This record gives sequence, C-alpha cells and structure tokens, in this order.
Amino acid sequence: MTHHTPDPRLIVVADTVHTLDPARPHAQAVAVTDGTITAVGDRADVAGWRGKDTEVVDLGGATVTPGLVDGHVHPVMGLVLTAGVDLTGVRTRGELVEALRAGVGDVRGGEWVRGWGLDPNAFEGAPITHEPLVTALGPDALVHITLFDAHSALVSPRALERAGITGPREFRSGARVVVAHDDAGGRPTGHLLELEAMDLVGDLLPPEAPADRRRRFRDLLQSMAATGLVGANAMDFEGGSADLVVAVADEEAGLPIRLRFAPFVMPHHGHDHLEHVVDLQRSAGRRWSVDGAKFMIDGTIDGGTAWLAEADAHGESTAPFWPEPARYTEALRFLAAHGVPTVTHAIGDAGIRHVLASVAGLDERPRVPHRVEHIETLPDDLVAEFARLDVTASMQPTHCTHFTRADHSDNWSQRLGEVRADRAFRTRDLRDAGARLALGSDWPIAPFDPRATMADARLRRTAGRREEEPVLPGQALTALMALEGYTTHAAHAAGLGDRAGTVRAGARADLVAFGLDPLSADPDEFAQSPVHLTVVDGAVVHRS
Ligand SMILES: [Zn+2]
Repeated sequence: MTHHTPDPRLIVVADTVHTLDPARPHAQAVAVTDGTITAVGDRADVAGWRGKDTEVVDLGGATVTPGLVDGHVHPVMGLVLTAGVDLTGVRTRGELVEALRAGVGDVRGGEWVRGWGLDPNAFEGAPITHEPLVTALGPDALVHITLFDAHSALVSPRALERAGITGPREFRSGARVVVAHDDAGGRPTGHLLELEAMDLVGDLLPPEAPADRRRRFRDLLQSMAATGLVGANAMDFEGGSADLVVAVADEEAGLPIRLRFAPFVMPHHGHDHLEHVVDLQRSAGRRWSVDGAKFMIDGTIDGGTAWLAEADAHGESTAPFWPEPARYTEALRFLAAHGVPTVTHAIGDAGIRHVLASVAGLDERPRVPHRVEHIETLPDDLVAEFARLDVTASMQPTHCTHFTRADHSDNWSQRLGEVRADRAFRTRDLRDAGARLALGSDWPIAPFDPRATMADARLRRTAGRREEEPVLPGQALTALMALEGYTTHAAHAAGLGDRAGTVRAGARADLVAFGLDPLSADPDEFAQSPVHLTVVDGAVVHRS
C-alpha cells in the first residue's frame, strides 16, 4: 500500500547546499511542501520528486544554506529611530553642523528637525552638548537627534524648553538629564540618557501617519529578506507595535520575514505588567509570535550608564539600570516559572555577572531558553559560565568593528581603559568554551546586513576596509561559526533546534541562496555576495 505524498511546491537546486545537518552536510537539491522541507538530495533526485505543479529553481553554481535569523533587532522602534537626517557618517563636530544644514531641506513640513545614528566620537572627546545644533540651525530650531546606540538623545535648547526641562530630574530607572558641570545652575546640555529621560522630548514628536508607517515597516522587512534574512528576534512590542504587525501580517503578501517578539519589562513595571507579558505569549499570527520578555540590567559604556564592577575613566557606569537588582531577579524568576523565555541586555562586567547569577538560581521545569545580549566586556571567570548554565550569548560583531578601534582611541575603550577594553566582544573565547553564540545586528544601532556582520565577525574589522587594523583578532570566528551564529545556534537559542536552522526533511522551509559560498569565499568578498533567493516558510520572498 502506498500513501499519497503531495508533490513538492518548490524544488531549489544548486551546486552546493550546506545543510548544517551533521547526518548529511552536503546536498544539491531541496524539496519543499507547505512550509516544510520534505526531501534533501542530489540533482539526480529531482526528476523523481517533481510533480506537474512543482516549481524547480535551478541556481547553478550558487550556495544554499539555512535561512539566516538575526538575534536582535528593533524593527518597530527603529522606524522612529531612523526618522530624519542620517548622521551615521558624521565623524566630527564640523561634519555634524554641515550634515544638519544639508539635511534640513529634506525634512518636509513639520517644525521638528530630526536626526539619527550620531556617534559620540564625533565630539572628539569634548562634552556632548547641543552647541553644534545651535550653530547649525540657530537658537530657535526644534531639534531631536538619536545617538547611534539609541540609548541617548541630543536635543536643542528650544526642545528642552518645549518639554519643560530646566535642570536635573529624578527617574525610577538609571535615566538622566545631563547638566553642565561648569554651570552653577546645573544647566541641561541637551543630552538625555536612557529611555525615561529621552521620552520627555520624544513624546512631543509628531507621530507618523499609519499608512506611511506600514509602508516603511514592510519595506524594511523586505530589504532584510533581500540580504538573506528569514527571521529576526524583535526586541520591541511596545506602543503600537501589535497593531502595526497585525496590519502588515494580514495584508495579502504578509510579513516578508518571521518576527519573534520579546516585550520589555522595565524597573518601574509592577506585577500586573509581568502578568500581562505572560498573557502576551499567546499572541501569534502568520510569521510572527510573542515569545519572550526583554530586560535591561544596564545601559551602555559610551553613555556612562553600563554597570561595571569599577567605575570608568569618567567615574561613571557604576549603577545597574534596575535600582534594586534583586527585583530584576524576582521578575526573571516569575517569568521563567511561567514558561517565558528571557532576554537580558547586559553590557558591563557587573551587569553580566548579576544576570548569570540570577539565571543560575532559577529552577523552572521544563527549562526555558535564557539569553544575555551584547556582553561587551567580559571577565575571564565568566566566560565558561554561559555553556555551564546553558545560556545563549547573543552578540553583535559590528558593534565592536564599527564603534571601537584597535588602538583604543575610541570613546568606548577610553572609558573602560586598557584592561577592560582588552576583554571586548569575546566571541571566539565564548565559542571555544562551548557557549551557544547567536549573532545579530541590533538594527538600527548597526546595519542589519548579515553578510557584512558575518564578515566582520571573522575579520574583527569593518568588511571592505582592508587598511583597518583588526580589534583583538584572536576573537575572530571561523566562517562556520559565523554561519552557525545566524542558523543552528540562532534556532537553539529560540528552543527551535529540532525544527529550524538546518536544511533537512521535516525542518521549516527557510532557505537562502548566495552567489558566493559563505564557508569558502573571502570574507570581504562575501560581504558583497549576491543573494539570489530567499525562501520563508516555503514561499519565495526575494529573488534576483
Ligand atoms: Zn537592542
């Protein structure tokens, strides 16, 4: 007796398929039906699999791998964070003034001038103040700039006035209105650190029209698919996120890639919010789900808001984002006990230590996946803890290559000093110690293109800049480790190791076809590789 197996909807053929399945590492053909891989084989198998309605896509010399998943993005918050003048290329105060003057013509209507992506190194070691904003646009302009790490904003004097900010404020989190040290009156400099302070002005910015927002969201996800991404772990489910995601998911084409959301839990949230986050875990739709909760135990080194065991060179980064870190631990325990996977932003050594100790004290059964994000300066004794506690390290190699320098002349390294800067982004040490390492971009903090991120992870410098000196080259990943960070390790980090991240029968039909082989091509060249095809849930979402 024979069962009727439906004909495959799609067969993808290429000279090289890296399956990342140890049972069959190499193949040339993959058959897909209803969102699931049904067969993996050779070119010779295709004739036997093929039915009358099967689409066969033969990509010749291309290389197929499991589809790539970004470990950490902010696709909704990023729409707001990337509004206005692109300041990502600004290197000096003079360039900031020029960029604002040049960009202001593009900001149609509205009374606000907005900008994003500003690197604090543009202040060349001088205090970060709104003085260049005034120089560029005059004392009456309403200006709002989001700094590159999205953990602080720089606003003009008129914007401070509009928000009623005249001096320091008290916040429930580690947020701060920065005031000039040399001024007896404590005059605000325009620099607002962390979300609660940023919101004082951010809440005054006019909202985008819903149709524009939907279009920008769809375009963003489509351009992610065009780089080989099939999914992303989204760290925002706040405000109007749910409405936006549902609206685009319900359109005929749906979401171009999968999104797995982790709503925020902040220090000021009460127990009712934790229960709300548990309830949200039931929300899901086509290609999206809420599956996790996002915490922050500290801020950033660059902003002086990280949690370090010893203060930085400015006497800052000494306090946790949760004024009572034990309350973080309690919230983590509550959510884990309710089966909610947790994700915690932890950048400074003391912050990472507290998160790992908190996870070590958990005893939920069954065990839920826990992750630590960023891990920027990691002391030796904590390296082995990730594997021992089965906690995923989730890291963004381009934060190292774009925002720090090998000679330690950058703001991040200067604040930390030699010893702690030499513990920067220890991707290789973590892998060698057996840790699971998910890679990602933290878009819009850094570009989302996984080809460049994988290349930077291998080079420890910016792809395409061969003249740049690598930052701690001993921390470079192999080509396979970099690919695993976006595939097998990403899947295991989400508790999906049995059905995603590899090319094998029964797994999710999420595939990508590159012009160059990510395992054998030169990394600088791979960063520019064509992406011929992206398949999500069995559907072709990108083709070139
Ligand atoms: Zn982030």
